[in-house]
Amino acid sequence: MPSVLQRPATTFDLFDPLGILRAASAINQYRIHSGYHYPRSPETIRETLEARAEFLNTFAPAIVRNSRHYYAIPHEGSQTPPALFEKVMAEFHLSVKPCRPEWMNFGFIDKCYEVDEQIYDPDILRELLSARIQALNIPFDQRAFTPDMRSGI
Ligand SMILES: Cc1cc2nc3c(=O)[nH]c(=O)nc-3n(C[C@H](O)[C@H](O)[C@H](O)COP(=O)(O)OP(=O)(O)OC[C@H]3O[C@@H](n4cnc5c(N)ncnc54)[C@H](O)[C@@H]3O)c2cc1C
Repeated sequence: MPSVLQRPATTFDLFDPLGILRAASAINQYRIHSGYHYPRSPETIRETLEARAEFLNTFAPAIVRNSRHYYAIPHEGSQTPPALFEKVMAEFHLSVKPCRPEWMNFGFIDKCYEVDEQIYDPDILRELLSARIQALNIPFDQRAFTPDMRSGI
């Protein structure tokens, strides 16, 4: 009789030795991208906007609603100067409000914009994800998945 640890993986098992949402996704900048970050790739902006709509809808309780977000372009070295950035954002109806925060060094920064972007709370997101996984009866094993656990597909 195989032990639990020897049980072959089914299609629906989840594995992660760290637990749910404990790696990069919980220690990054928590930004829910709106597209501002990708002015040089219209395709990425389109994909981002689609994913964003679904994410905001699905994980609404995890969205932080009171953060402020800025994008700043330096005088030198940017591949997306302000006029181009504004043009691309306008094409995607992404709001950019020029602003001049007093703490920003405008000796270095050419133009700064306040934008419509949010962050997520990783702890709340983890709770929501864990609850979904449980509700769907998906087994979660807090261990690494190894090649020998493949079910011979
Ligand atoms: C500095 C920085 C800032 C970022 N900021 C943002 C941001 O603001 N917004 C944004 O959207 N993206 C951001 N990103 C990118 C984002 O963090 C990653 O795209 C995202 O976290 C990737 O998610 P993931 O689940 O694929 O990987 P991870 O979150 O890294 O998770 C991978 C998981 O796989 C597990 N694992 C590995 N091997 C096995 C195995 N054999 N069996 C079982 N489990 C295994 C690991 O334990 C880990 O938990 C940032 C990235 C960096 C580096």
